[in-house]
Amino acid sequence: MAYDFDLFVIGAGSGGVRAARFAAGYGARVAVAESRYLGGTCVNVGCVPKKLLVYGAHYAEDIHEAEGYGWTIDGARFDWASLIANKDREIQRLNGIYKNLLTDSGVTLLQAHARLVDAHTVEVDGKHCSAEHILIATGGWPFVPEIPGREHAITSNEAFYLDALPRRVLVVGGGYIAVEFASIFHGCGADTKLLYRGELFLRGFDGALRDHLKDELIKKGLDLQFNADIARIDKQADGTLLATLEDGRTLEADCIFYATGRRPMLDGLGLENVDVTLDKRGFVAIDEQFRTSTPSILAIGDVIGRIQLTPVALAEGMAVARQLFKPEEYRPVDYNNIATAVFSLPNMATVGLTEEQAREQGHKVVLFESRFRPMKQTMTDSLERSLMKLVVDADTDKVLGCHMAGPEAGEIIQGLAVALKAGATKRIFDDTVGIHPTAAEEFVTMRTPTGI
Ligand code: FAD
Ligand code: NDP
Repeated sequence: MAYDFDLFVIGAGSGGVRAARFAAGYGARVAVAESRYLGGTCVNVGCVPKKLLVYGAHYAEDIHEAEGYGWTIDGARFDWASLIANKDREIQRLNGIYKNLLTDSGVTLLQAHARLVDAHTVEVDGKHCSAEHILIATGGWPFVPEIPGREHAITSNEAFYLDALPRRVLVVGGGYIAVEFASIFHGCGADTKLLYRGELFLRGFDGALRDHLKDELIKKGLDLQFNADIARIDKQADGTLLATLEDGRTLEADCIFYATGRRPMLDGLGLENVDVTLDKRGFVAIDEQFRTSTPSILAIGDVIGRIQLTPVALAEGMAVARQLFKPEEYRPVDYNNIATAVFSLPNMATVGLTEEQAREQGHKVVLFESRFRPMKQTMTDSLERSLMKLVVDADTDKVLGCHMAGPEAGEIIQGLAVALKAGATKRIFDDTVGIHPTAAEEFVTMRTPTGI
């Protein structure tokens, strides 16, 4: 049967754009439908604007610490509206780049909502398009628990467009987004409290790093409240929000920001028309080649709920394009040793196994830790300290995990991710000559184990 397209991609986010561009580059006839914004979550309401706001928030510390270096900066003021307007301009520029990337590679771009009609047909703007393969790359959406008054809360989607910086913010959650936005709000000058339902935030990261980051954030003045969760939210006559916690305490705020995970974006996708099975968490179930229970329909990225990171969606998009249209170059996505960073202030980054995971997996471990005051802070009154940690297999000498909290942790760990991918041993780390004076050199100069 002759189809209109070889591949129809639903969603022009990180994964969808990558799959579409590469498939078109391999000679396939490709269409992409995008209902909201080109570049998806990462470009519009995720990684990119988030990092810009983190940079913005960090200037508060930079300006203060500059005094230690002889600078007098009188009358420094912060204007949230300018930060947001400049961020919006940059995002618009990126939207244009994404449009060009797609159209220049020969992809047919349809800026409208797409709905599945059958195993080979998609409806866009009332028009049916047929395709040999359909790729669901529709991403995710913030999940807010069903509590009374949840309509008064905002999520990351709205936070990027707030007209003014709220005076008092309650951030709910203990994952990436909660910790990053708590740093943004606090750094920009809002009175910020982070409420997390468990004992300690950032579950899944190395325990020593979680403890360290907790201490660092508290030192900076963030109010961290663990074992705390909101039972209901009420809006008072003057517009103030009143949060009643599970333990009966009440907290007042001008903004309540929920970052309690993300659900797959399947709204209006027409799943009722096709046989596409969901897994028990509600994400699209796929096999090892990203095929759903209908083999002509594939899925990648946040909507499959594996690892919700842009580089992972990109790798999956690339794998699908190769698998379908350039099988001789196909390589499966390797989900091991994926480096990741939390862009809190300070940053935290990690690659490989945490100490806890290494022990659970039966490794006999040797640990190396370095705690120090970053050199840039030595001439300032900052109390910030960094932590670097290596988890090494005692039997094979292989480095199993590298973890860091401190300035530029993401930049440093990205380099070490290559070493871990290559199977580097601690001996290779030791034989590597450092760059002096840097913080990163600590990773190759830790000689004495701090634990086993
Ligand atoms: P998306 O990028 O979400 O793209 C899906 C697209 O599909 C969207 O544009 C949507 O409008 C469109 N769509 C949905 N349904 C339809 C339909 N029926 N028809 C047409 N179009 C449709 N990851 C990192 O690696 N680093 C970070 O620093 C980082 N920071 C983040 C910060 C925040 C606040 C958030 C929310 C996420 C962050 N992430 C980060 C995660 C990252 O953004 C996602 O993992 C990534 O965007 C997933 O890509 P995707 O292609 O699966 O989906
Ligand atoms: P996460 O899954 O990282 O964290 C969700 C947090 O919300 C957890 O602390 C969780 O607690 C808590 N939570 C879940 N349900 C409830 C509930 N019903 N009531 C109270 N608390 C709840 O999700 P995020 O929303 O922070 O981010 C989504 C994903 O986006 C991340 O996992 C990450 O993959 C990606 N991302 C990546 C970033 C980066 O690379 N820098 C930045 C931002 C997002 P518990 O731990 O107890 O389950």
